[in-house]
Amino acid sequence: MKLAAKLVLLFLGCLALVVGVFSFLSLRQARELALADHERHASELAATLQSALSSPRIQNVDQILLAWSREVQHVQVRLVNPEDPLNSARRPAVPTNLVVRSTEVITLLYPSRTGQNMMYSYIPLNDTSGTKLEVAAPESFSLDRLGNSLRNSAIALVAVSAATSIVILLGGMWMVGRPLDQLVEKVHRVGQGDLSGPVELHRGDELGKLGEAVNEMCTQLDEQRKRIASETAQRLQAVEQLRHADRLKTVGRLAAGLAHEIGTPLSVVSGRAELIASGKLSSADVQESARTIKTQSQRITTIVQELLNFARRKAPLRERGDLNQLLLETIRLLQPMSDKRAAVITLRPFETETEAGGALAEFDASQMQQVFTNLLVNALQATGEGGKIESSVELVPMAVPPQDVGDTGGEYWRISVRDNGVGIAPEAINNIFEPFFTTKDVGEGTGLGLSIAYGIVHEHGGWLAVQSELGQGSQFDLYLPRNVH
Ligand code: ADP
Repeated sequence: MKLAAKLVLLFLGCLALVVGVFSFLSLRQARELALADHERHASELAATLQSALSSPRIQNVDQILLAWSREVQHVQVRLVNPEDPLNSARRPAVPTNLVVRSTEVITLLYPSRTGQNMMYSYIPLNDTSGTKLEVAAPESFSLDRLGNSLRNSAIALVAVSAATSIVILLGGMWMVGRPLDQLVEKVHRVGQGDLSGPVELHRGDELGKLGEAVNEMCTQLDEQRKRIASETAQRLQAVEQLRHADRLKTVGRLAAGLAHEIGTPLSVVSGRAELIASGKLSSADVQESARTIKTQSQRITTIVQELLNFARRKAPLRERGDLNQLLLETIRLLQPMSDKRAAVITLRPFETETEAGGALAEFDASQMQQVFTNLLVNALQATGEGGKIESSVELVPMAVPPQDVGDTGGEYWRISVRDNGVGIAPEAINNIFEPFFTTKDVGEGTGLGLSIAYGIVHEHGGWLAVQSELGQGSQFDLYLPRNVH
């Protein structure tokens, strides 16, 4: 129900209550006044008729009273004697016990034989027989006037109430309902994230102030939103820069191994070119040498391309891809580095007849490769000469993922990297995912690798877990949801 209608109902309810109480009190007061009036009139009448009433010729008195009653029609006056039960003509209209002992003037309200409410006044006379003057008048005679005036007042009141109700209803709808509708609509829009279009009430009352406050709130929210957006953009840019720096650091590490990788085909190319240039080769040998040069140059191109691909800054892009394939490519990229350290990286890919296309998931290949690289480079650094690094891709059910992942259970890809390296000290294991935490020498470690890997994996709805024993080796498990979010 509309506010204005409720106000009208409340107003009418209160009015009805006040009018009811007022009428009840007025009626009671009028009744008391009528009784007092009646008693006063009766006493005045008794005083006026005193001389006649004190006459011993009571018969005459009756006639006087009868004549008087005929004149004043609504009042009946007669002599009664409640102490003389034998004379029924002089019995009072009310039960005798109510008046018999009284020596004072008494006035009673009592129903007559016809059921009409009558006011009876009994005035004792100055004789010893107990005779009293009974003055009776219908109560309605006095109350009718009050009833009329009450009725007129009620009609006026109803008219005023109706007019007031209409004014409240229309005024309420115009002054309260309309601006409230505008405010509600505005609040709905704000709830849906639309802060544009201020609410325009143009009024100086409380609702106008509320509208201004809502507009101001929206302006502030908008400013905050813009500030948060700009801060988020800056933060993302900083994260991206850190990630890129981390990639370049890996490129630097790989470059040392790649010099050797490129060196071998380059010397083959240069040797073959020299042979061709000497002019001593038959045309078949020239062709053969040219083919070798082509193959070796392609090998160099591939190696350089892979490195450039890894180093290049790319816009984030999530696509469905094969985790087996990506891990294999990463291991290949790190081959020169592992060769240099005489370490072996093996891969046990996920294989099943039903899973066509390998270990499929949705991920950003460039970011995920950075994660794999960080885990594998750490393992290589931890193992040193003759290290053994085993990697695998498996599908595991996970009923309840860790709390901070906030995901429902389901199937997850688990990419594990195990090494037989130095392991991680128990006091350090809780800190390894923190940015800039490193136990490596200056120039060897920046402490960014694992924190970046942690961030990337979380963005993909997964998480990283680690188990390690000092001197025995470490195992990093990377979990990624199988199903796309
Ligand atoms: P950085 O490699 O530059 O130090 P990371 O964030 O990659 O930074 O690693 C943080 C620390 O975690 C390393 O300094 C090292 O102490 C520890 N750590 C990471 N991976 C391994 C591992 N496979 N074996 C032993 N310690 C490791």
